[in-house]
Amino acid sequence: MIAPRAMAGAAMGALLVLSRAGAAGAADVGTSTSGANMAVAETRAAQLAAAGVRGIRPIEVVPFGPGTAERWRLDNGLHAIVAADGAAGVAAVHVWVKVGSADETAGKTGLAHLLEHLMFKGTRSRPAGVYDRELEAHGASTNAATWVDWTMYHQVVPPEVVPLVVQMEADRFVHLNLTAAGVRSELAVVQNERRETVDSDPDGLVAEHLGRLVHGGGPYGHPVIGWAADLAALKRDDVMAFYRQRYVPGNAAVVVAGTFDPTAVLAEIVHSFGGIAALPPPDRPQCAHGGARLTAEVRQAVAIDARAARLAVAWPTVPRDHADAPALELLAEALCGAASARLDRLLIDDKRLASDVNCHQDDTRLPGAFDVWVTLRPGRTASEALTALDAAVAALVGPSPLTAEELDLARVRATTGLYRQLASADGRADVLGQTWAVAGSLAAHGQWWQRMAQVSPAEVAAAARRWIGAPGRAVVLADPAPPVISQRPAGRSGLRVAARMP
Ligand SMILES: [Zn+2]
Repeated sequence: MIAPRAMAGAAMGALLVLSRAGAAGAADVGTSTSGANMAVAETRAAQLAAAGVRGIRPIEVVPFGPGTAERWRLDNGLHAIVAADGAAGVAAVHVWVKVGSADETAGKTGLAHLLEHLMFKGTRSRPAGVYDRELEAHGASTNAATWVDWTMYHQVVPPEVVPLVVQMEADRFVHLNLTAAGVRSELAVVQNERRETVDSDPDGLVAEHLGRLVHGGGPYGHPVIGWAADLAALKRDDVMAFYRQRYVPGNAAVVVAGTFDPTAVLAEIVHSFGGIAALPPPDRPQCAHGGARLTAEVRQAVAIDARAARLAVAWPTVPRDHADAPALELLAEALCGAASARLDRLLIDDKRLASDVNCHQDDTRLPGAFDVWVTLRPGRTASEALTALDAAVAALVGPSPLTAEELDLARVRATTGLYRQLASADGRADVLGQTWAVAGSLAAHGQWWQRMAQVSPAEVAAAARRWIGAPGRAVVLADPAPPVISQRPAGRSGLRVAARMP
């Protein structure tokens, strides 16, 4: 599946720390590897060595959720991330791979997501269907997702099943068995997914136009699911080349969170994955900060098959590791998504233009975007919403910046979102895997939340002026297609009305 926007936003961006909780909140998520924490890993390393397990060493240990999270690296480059706690009752086993749609080349879009589907097609020792049935027999819930920067596979299982899942993940990581017919049939599934989520879905269609306009020919400019013409041309050889190049140990992390024995599970990871050849991780696209970006507005009108119009506006902004990223994340949280949020009050309550408003700052490895999405009430137009939004933005970057109260409320909402996510083993594995895939270390998680706790109203105002006040932006005005009225030949009765599809 394509990672839903909410997940991509929540898992990437919604990792916030309480300012109200102050030091306690920051301590919960942790910022660095302390000597005491590292000593735990060194003791574990000694136990592993005593048990004859070779080829793995600890890299970092950080306070995380109810305990700590440890990152280890195997000699072949694979990362193993474990965060154990006795209370979860289940364990989440994830595999995160540093490959997403941004790693695709022109003409071959959609490969990362198609490969995610095909990873369930079986290996020689576990043919198609056996993988799922074996996991189901153990009560596992299993799924996968692809986004611009990453692909992930996850299972939630009883603790005693963790070693089996690790073995099965290692098996399909190197021994995927694909036939040309199997690829063709799964391609049909993906093409149908595209029809349902883009061609027949007004929001999907608007998202595709917005992404193309704001990111142009850059790595984030094409849809994760791929362009229809590219999908139609993909072959088994394309998939296998992509799989062999990208699914190498140095490009992947096995993440286990919840209730399990970390020493035993690390030993199983070494046993199952340690023999895989250490091929170099492939280069990923680079995109310099402040590089080519929109300097003027680009605008597109789209006719949609819907009762309500949509407006979507995106400003090019920053990657996750930019100093302004936490301020923009808090700005998005403050402007939309709660009854008291500024744009909700203006567009939904005061002007009665919209039924829904969403704001979002990307949490991405390369420079992303800040988006505002408005779903209009039936009968209202996208350009009416743009006029009202422009006035609100002019006030925000001018005389009425975000107040301290608005910022505090945004911080509380963001922090609540984080703790909701950290409440489950699967949510904790999501946070760890995504932080590793996008930021490269676990310490980045605590550092991000510490910044979120410290961002001042002046910093948010400066970031808003710098990015949302800039002239370069993408605008998609999507209004319901008008009925097509055609005159019947004279003598026949009246007018004929038919819906026109976009
Ligand atoms: Zn899918």
